[in-house]
Amino acid sequence: MKPNTDRNAELFERAKRLIPGGVNSPVRAFKAVGGTPRFVQRAQGAYFWDANGQRYIDYIGSWGPMILGHGHPAVLEAVQKAALDGFSFGAPTEREVELAEAIIRLVPSVEMLRLVSSGTEAAMSAIRLARGATGRTKFIKFEGCYHGHADALLVKAGSGLATFGNPTSAGVPAEVVKDTLVLEYNHLAQLEEAFALHGKELACLMIEPIAGNMNFVRASVPFMKRCRELCTQYGALLVFDEVMTGFRVALGSAQSVYAKAIPGFEPDMTVMGKVIGGGMPLAAFGGKRAVMEQLAPLGAVYQAGTLSGNPVATACGLATLREISKPGFFDALSGKTRSLVTGLQQAANAAGVAFSGDSEGGMFGFFLLPALPQNYGAVMKTDGARFNTLFHGLLERGVYIAPALYEAGFVSSAHSDDDIAHTVEAAASLFKILQNK
Ligand SMILES: *Cc1c(COP(=O)(O)O)cnc(C)c1O
Repeated sequence: MKPNTDRNAELFERAKRLIPGGVNSPVRAFKAVGGTPRFVQRAQGAYFWDANGQRYIDYIGSWGPMILGHGHPAVLEAVQKAALDGFSFGAPTEREVELAEAIIRLVPSVEMLRLVSSGTEAAMSAIRLARGATGRTKFIKFEGCYHGHADALLVKAGSGLATFGNPTSAGVPAEVVKDTLVLEYNHLAQLEEAFALHGKELACLMIEPIAGNMNFVRASVPFMKRCRELCTQYGALLVFDEVMTGFRVALGSAQSVYAKAIPGFEPDMTVMGKVIGGGMPLAAFGGKRAVMEQLAPLGAVYQAGTLSGNPVATACGLATLREISKPGFFDALSGKTRSLVTGLQQAANAAGVAFSGDSEGGMFGFFLLPALPQNYGAVMKTDGARFNTLFHGLLERGVYIAPALYEAGFVSSAHSDDDIAHTVEAAASLFKILQNK
């Protein structure tokens, strides 16, 4: 390699001296796949260009927010206009009201909401609110679901259902996760047992309805139905973490997908982020009025933020929601995403490579496994070496997917049929290599 001509490598070396691991969020470091992270210089539509001027078809889209692709003209205009009026005031603005109205119109289970700046903040605050509103401290989360990096959420399963979680990060005291019960995703019997043992002490159950942080795994309809029933029966709040799925898998978010299969289905609270900011730091949590009114300044549960409801971020989010609300938007996006997954499946079949894929709206996942896994343990059985061959091969062919096999992928409305065809073609040539391995 000629180090002086690879700007990505050069920047990575500089970054590593100044920023731990050279990145400001761990997955960007390519640790799982090896190699040099691409430093993005600019992006437009479905593409970004790295520091060497190399173009990639972008299937990450900032991990979900860029549902319209990069630099959508209507969003750009809204952001530029908002920036001229001021960056931040620390006082309320009309656009915060408009954004709240827009979100509530699209997600009817949300009657009131609070805007924050990151999904981590939203999930952390939702748990505090659930605890404050119920007067209970314990809660359930599922292995493989990510709800940001608040202390009480960095936890893995203890040795049994009677024992609670163990921290997954240094610096998280055991006391802080002792009320977090970690269960296996889609494991009905374990769910029943956990509620039988602890139901009356549970403040909430938090779940990614379609898990996007262990690649792409759907909660089964019977499992979700039972989550709802048990929460209602025991007085625990059902909290949907839709930071990734919200306004990404459907205009009404993942809860609208489950409501089609389970009549009257609704979560009590919803955590949102990513798409609602359109690429700006913006997130939210919301739910039933009686619960949300427990929040300061009305209620006793404290929560605050200097940059919450930022005027440039709300302009970006509003413009994004306006575009995705246009008739036919999700039908077109879903069709495109499905055609990608179907194309990959056919290419893998033709090469005799084990493959399974799934998608909903503009979110997808695939596994080098013959059938879709149903939980984290099964996801982690995927062969990392084979995935890495695919990842680096795609990268060389100008296709950028998540640099880890436990992440979901994202298609935007800016991706063209040609982009999809090029991606399938690139993957087909790699499946032939994998076949002979
Ligand atoms: C991304 C994500 C978060 C965390 O959001 P940040 O803005 O990165 O803090 C929380 N929950 C889910 C489901 C996510 O995908």
